[in-house]
Parts: sequence; structure tokens; C-alpha cells
Amino acid sequence: MSIAENIQMIRDRMARAAKAAGRDPAEILLVGASKMNGAGACREAIAAGIDALGENRVQEMTAKLAENAYDGAPLHFIGHLQRNKVRQVVGRAALIQSAGSVELLEEIHRQAEKLGITQNVLLEVNIGGEASKSGFSPQALYPAAEKARTLSHICVRGLMTIPPIAEKPHGNLPYFAKVAQLYVDISRNLYDNGFIYLSMGMSDDFEDAIAAGATMVRVGSAIFGHRQYSQ
Ligand SMILES: *Cc1c(COP(=O)(O)O)cnc(C)c1O
Repeated sequence: MSIAENIQMIRDRMARAAKAAGRDPAEILLVGASKMNGAGACREAIAAGIDALGENRVQEMTAKLAENAYDGAPLHFIGHLQRNKVRQVVGRAALIQSAGSVELLEEIHRQAEKLGITQNVLLEVNIGGEASKSGFSPQALYPAAEKARTLSHICVRGLMTIPPIAEKPHGNLPYFAKVAQLYVDISRNLYDNGFIYLSMGMSDDFEDAIAAGATMVRVGSAIFGHRQYSQ
């Protein structure tokens, strides 16, 4: 199957999941997680109408930017971001989905201020409480969202989460439901209902994420094929 065919198949499945949940399929964006895929694959996905492309390594993103891999679609940063690399991402990514600490928010603000721009971000939630993952605990999320409101060169547009690897089918539904509740609460109480992006769901579970309320899914291998980590 080609990348275009895969995207069409994912769109069909997204639409079915949305309708089953009584939702409008048009309100859910498909982000292609294009890590470890070359500029040619990115261009194919853009030609097939992907809504955005997401990268999770700064070095790879920078190299592919130099090849104009993302022309025609918004670029998102979705990976773990180190503070000393923030400068290379602010202003290049339309949305930084992985803002997972107050220090990172402050650094994004500082770099955006230097450029005279406002950087759109999502707050990453570590909903499984995993030590191996970055992101705010549910308890830390509220204070972080309050703090972010005071950083004038940052605009928080919603939440992102990567739940633990599911042990059984639909195993992540409870996590998705919890993050959806946090999204609604924080948007209502702190952001005047201004949140627009609830980014959750990947190749194996995007339909469950849509059932729980995702407005953005990040799909990699189901679009681009299995990644060759040995390369
Ligand atoms: C790779 C990646 C995805 C997509 O994963 P698949 O299982 O290949 O769909 C989604 N989100 C993030 C943050 C990723 O790094």
C-alpha cells in the first residue's frame, strides 16, 4: 500500500470512529509522525492531504527542513525536547506538542520573545506516571497551565499525551478518558474554553482516542510502514 492509500484508510477509520462517537470527523486532525522517514515520504504524505507532520528529533527535523520536506503542511514537534535545543525548534514548528516541564515552558517563552513571536504549544501529560516518560503529572498540570498563562510569548492550545504501552486491546481507554477530562476542566477554568487540540492516539489506538475526545491523532507506522530502527 502506498502512503496515500494508507492515509485514505486511516481517514476512513477516523471517520467511522468519529461517527460512532457522535462526533464530526472534520474536527479531528491527522498528524503524520514522520520520524525515520525521508523527505520524499513527507512530500508524499503532504500531497495526500495530511494535516500536519510531526517530528520527534531536533537533528532529523533540521536536516529535513533543509530539504524542504515539510513545504505545504504545518510542522509539529512531538518528541522529548531538551532545553538546549529549544532554540532550534521555536519559530520553526507551528506547534510544540511536548512541553512537559515549567523549565521548558520558560525557555520556549524566552526564545520566542527573542524572535518576537508567540509559540503555540501543548502541555504534555504523563498520564501513566511512568518515570521513563516526560510530561506533567495530572497534579502538576494545573499549576503549570496557570504559570503558562503568565508567559506572554507562549500560547497553550491544549494537551498531548502518550499513555503506557497497552497490555490488552482498548487498554488505554481509561487514560484517554482521564486526559480528556483534564482537557475540558483546564480549558474551561483557565483558558476561557479556548483549547482546540487534544492530541492523543497513535497507530494502534487512535480510534479509542477519538472515542474519548481526541481532536488530533499522531499516526506513524500505519501511514509510513514499520520503522527500521537499525539504520
Ligand atoms: C512515533 C510517534 C507517534 C506515532 O507512533 P506509531 O505507533 O508509529 O503510530 C506518535 N507520537 C509520538 C510522540 C511519536 O514519537
